[in-house]
Amino acid sequence: MNAVLVFLLMSLFASTIRRSWRTILNQSTPHPTLSRAMHIQSIPMWEGTGNNYAYLVVDDKSKEAVIIDPANPPEVLPVLKDKTKNGDIKLSTIINTHHHHDHAGGNKEILKHFPLPIFGGKDCDSVTNTPAHKSTFSVGEAIKATALHTPCHTQDSICYFFEDGTDKAVFTGDTLFIGGCGRFFEGNAEEMHEALNETLASLPDDTKVYPGHEYTKGNVRFAKRVLENDAIKKLEEFAQNNKETQGKFTIGDEKQHNVFMRVNDPSIQKSVGYDKPVDVMRALREMKDRA
Ligand SMILES: [Zn+2]
Repeated sequence: MNAVLVFLLMSLFASTIRRSWRTILNQSTPHPTLSRAMHIQSIPMWEGTGNNYAYLVVDDKSKEAVIIDPANPPEVLPVLKDKTKNGDIKLSTIINTHHHHDHAGGNKEILKHFPLPIFGGKDCDSVTNTPAHKSTFSVGEAIKATALHTPCHTQDSICYFFEDGTDKAVFTGDTLFIGGCGRFFEGNAEEMHEALNETLASLPDDTKVYPGHEYTKGNVRFAKRVLENDAIKKLEEFAQNNKETQGKFTIGDEKQHNVFMRVNDPSIQKSVGYDKPVDVMRALREMKDRA
């Protein structure tokens, strides 16, 4: 083989290598989630009636995991047992968003199989730790969790903000739903206004919202009675085409399509006949309760 041919073959080989590297780089750059450390699995419970969600959150590297609101053990335990047996998770903590039976009512049964600490509000069944407002704890190596007290739906309601450096998620129980909020069973409009429009609104806008129930369709129906905007139209379209909406919208989206987070919107103020944010909050909730 002469030198020219060797040179030509080598150049061809080099350009092929360069091209494939470029392909690899182009493919990996738009997908930062490939390197994520936090994995969230939704476990639907009482589908068709309560439409609740439990959430399994795993630190991918250490496999340490927490289970949030495992209220219906027959639907949650098989997942936890399988994943534990396969070495996919090391469950460390049970977490509750509030004391209601459809959130904390599974604790005793879960404890029989996984004798672990229970983080939650003071009224949660078998609770062992009630994290203080804004206190933090870690899950595995990469996940930092912050407890946010949001009393109103119940006085012991706590939302949990999870972040792994890239991804951010907030587990909101029955305080914030996609496009709505919980009933004021143990609190008042002042408290829900603070919970939604100060505490949760101050989280980064790209925080994904994981609520305790799938209530989006009904929330959109109500929202349209008091406000028409593009964000509500988009949410309606999404809810019509997707059975599950948890984790698909962010705190930034909620500020656009959730009427309970738009108490300063002049159109809503006109619809309900009040202009002070707390009065708007109270009026919206009363209208929704009657709906
Ligand atoms: Zn509740």
